Amino acid sequence: MLYIVPTPIGNLEDISLRALKVLREVDLILAEDTRTSRVLLKHFDIRTPVRSFHAFNEHKAVDGIMRQLEQGADIALISDAGTPGISDPGFLLTRACRLAGIPVTCLPGPTALIPALVVSGLPTDRFYFAGFLPHKKGRKKLLQDLAGRQETFVLYESPHRLSRCLGELAAACGPDRQATVCRELTKLHEEIVHGTLDELQTQFPPGKKVRGEVVIVVSGRE
Ligand code: SAM
Repeated sequence: MLYIVPTPIGNLEDISLRALKVLREVDLILAEDTRTSRVLLKHFDIRTPVRSFHAFNEHKAVDGIMRQLEQGADIALISDAGTPGISDPGFLLTRACRLAGIPVTCLPGPTALIPALVVSGLPTDRFYFAGFLPHKKGRKKLLQDLAGRQETFVLYESPHRLSRCLGELAAACGPDRQATVCRELTKLHEEIVHGTLDELQTQFPPGKKVRGEVVIVVSGRE
């Protein structure tokens, strides 16, 4: 069995009792960055063997992991933070399990996009998750597509590109479109800023040093 196990996006208290149980009981934990995950595992006194599984080795690693699963091993996949497979490695392995008939279960748990969407105060009945936009090729076209969507959309962005991204969103969606910037969710310095894209650009101007991790939530087209 493959277990997809979400881990906290900042606040360690967000780990679930079931996540701890699974991480203790499996034969192996696959972790995106073993050094990052060791902090979490040490904190909860989890001594299960850990092996690295990240974007740069996942293609190569999948066959070996599938062999172990086929021989009956129970394996958990975690990423540095949040839910594996959501802008993190996970899809390749889950697809391989699906094709091979290996059962996969995903524990519900931390992810940045859901708290950002819900706290935005924008409609949540339907939404579009765009993840990270490509840096260059296809970025403009994607921004235009997003601008035309009627449902709320959610973007992941790095803090040093936040200002530029807000400018691009304002150009594509118009400066009066409502949006929310969520920074450092669940952490000590959590910051939620609501406003029009124009107002948000004023809050996060070019050159302003923005730290931490950021989600942008944008209202759909009226
Ligand atoms: N798998 C993760 C999830 O389920 O949300 C996402 C991993 S992705 C590599 C990292 C991005 O998620 C960050 O650049 C940021 O956009 C978002 N993120 C992760 N933790 C966050 C936090 N505490 N506050 C705001 N955004 C966060």
